[in-house]
Amino acid sequence: MRLVLFGPPGAGKGTQAAAIKDKFGIPHISTGEILREAIAAGTPVGVRAKAVVESGSLVPDEVVGELVALRLARSDARRGFLLDGFPRTLRQAEILEVVLKARKEPLDAVVKVNLNDDEVVRRLSGRRTCPSCGASFHVSFSPPKVEGLCDACGGPLRQRDDDREDVIRKRLTVYRDQTAPLASHYAKMGVLKEIEGSGPIEEVKQRILRALGAA
Ligand code: AMP
Repeated sequence: MRLVLFGPPGAGKGTQAAAIKDKFGIPHISTGEILREAIAAGTPVGVRAKAVVESGSLVPDEVVGELVALRLARSDARRGFLLDGFPRTLRQAEILEVVLKARKEPLDAVVKVNLNDDEVVRRLSGRRTCPSCGASFHVSFSPPKVEGLCDACGGPLRQRDDDREDVIRKRLTVYRDQTAPLASHYAKMGVLKEIEGSGPIEEVKQRILRALGAA
């Protein structure tokens, strides 16, 4: 199964991706995660991307495209993959099409998770993540058992630099201007599935699986 998951920041892509990848036995490839790892490790790409990511803008298409092409070339992505946060522009969609054409492997589906702006801000401003294991919590909706500590690995939780309200608003504008137009591109290709992202995590997961014919 070759899938793309897209939607506004805070729509639950990362959370849902974890469930979908298990269901289909495919790797979850998050460009946001790859960039945060590069920034933490201080690689040349990370050093260049740091200020861009922290401001809520997009890293240049060719840089992210190269990271994705390299990741898709790894053996675990041969039987399929779930892309989360890529493509985010029409240019990135073209880059992906070139890579997949060379492999003679078109996308099976592009799932767009919709969520309104107020809900995005509510979710993201309370989000706390674990940098060690990637687990995600919310201070009100799904708090950790011990305040400030990860339930899964016990590590300290932190707020992402780009989850501050001013940066969230910027990310929403970028999403509306640059990423949302991908919906009509994928609708024309006949692979778009739109689902509503509000409500409990389990319900959203079932909506996605039903849209993929896998519920
Ligand atoms: P995410 O974790 O998907 O919300 O991504 C966090 C940030 O990483 C974004 O706000 C961008 O600055 C950057 N980023 C992630 N994916 C991409 C992409 N496909 N193209 C450009 N920038 C990206």
